[in-house]
Amino acid sequence: MTVVAGRPSIPPARYADRLRRAGEVAGESGFDALLVGVGPDLRYLTGYVAVPLERLTMLVLAPGRRPAIVVPRLERSAAEAGVRGDVDIDTWEETDDPYAVVARHVPPAARRIAVSDRLWSSHLLRLQATLSGARFEPASTVLSVLRMRKDPDEIELLRIAAHAADRVVGQIAAGRLVGRTEAEVAREVRDRLIAEGHDEATFAIVASGPNSASPHHEASERVIEAGEPVVLDIGGTVGGYSSDITRTLWVTGGKPEGGPDAEFSRLYAVLHDAQSEATAAARPGVATERVDAVARGIIDAGGFGPHFIHRTGHGIGLDGHEEPYLVAGSRETLEARMAFSIEPGIYLEGRYGARIEDIVVADESGPDVLNQASRDLLVVDG
Ligand code: ZN
Ligand code: ZN
Ligand code: ZN
Repeated sequence: MTVVAGRPSIPPARYADRLRRAGEVAGESGFDALLVGVGPDLRYLTGYVAVPLERLTMLVLAPGRRPAIVVPRLERSAAEAGVRGDVDIDTWEETDDPYAVVARHVPPAARRIAVSDRLWSSHLLRLQATLSGARFEPASTVLSVLRMRKDPDEIELLRIAAHAADRVVGQIAAGRLVGRTEAEVAREVRDRLIAEGHDEATFAIVASGPNSASPHHEASERVIEAGEPVVLDIGGTVGGYSSDITRTLWVTGGKPEGGPDAEFSRLYAVLHDAQSEATAAARPGVATERVDAVARGIIDAGGFGPHFIHRTGHGIGLDGHEEPYLVAGSRETLEARMAFSIEPGIYLEGRYGARIEDIVVADESGPDVLNQASRDLLVVDG
């Protein structure tokens, strides 16, 4: 890990290696070229962060050739400053056909082309028309192989992000909640994520009372009351890498009778057990669907099976949700240095719900849990 302008980031030397490996894996997979548009794949391979636009920016990797990035003329200086690794920069003028410029970097008889998953269809359709002899396939088959297994710098950035998110959970739990709206608390979460070192606050779920039974609830104008749970699911990015933590609080309003009822306490005990057992199961060599089955088995046995309505987890890195997915039917097996969430939840519709989420890295010596905030039900005055 290196620090640029006070921000932690990936050392520039890493990109040459990623480009080389992507070219190798593409070649081994039988692709004649890999076409990568603006987005996390481009950032992964070159460090270049750009906004997806109608004007085409595209990295072309063809096995055995030098990597080239095709950019609009007006973005040449941005690309020169942003692109790491050994990449030729080729520009197109406003009156040029950028797809023809891309085609010049693709081997003439290319038959199979891998294209980044996030590329706009407006670009893909033009590329398909220009390179009409080739079959287009998703580049995730090549790039997720690389991106799933994190290098030590990536793990360090994920850890810095996780610890920053941990601190924000602690600050929110220690502050006032009763009488404020979910939206007010969500704004505070976003400000605190930035104050604790995130480049960007990506999301802030604040789900109180009956809203806690909705896993992806948007913070609303509902006023938080004493004697109910609040689910906080928050995250942002550090050096491009995501944090994502969920903790469940119970706000008493300072009243002795304001604590959790017996049903919620039982629900939370089952959930806590499911989350910690699933985490313990997350080791290299274990099928991703097995980790899901561990959490689901415990929640089933506790009688809440029908109320656990989503997968157990998702990979995390430059994307907030990426491969591997911890879900029944997934064909992936955990490998060392894969990073993912473990986030079972139990939701009793119309009443309340709870979720516990950590980011975990599979390690030969056992699961490396990046989040350190307590997983107990946080009973606070609020
Ligand atoms: Zn989610
Ligand atoms: Zn989350
Ligand atoms: Zn998550």
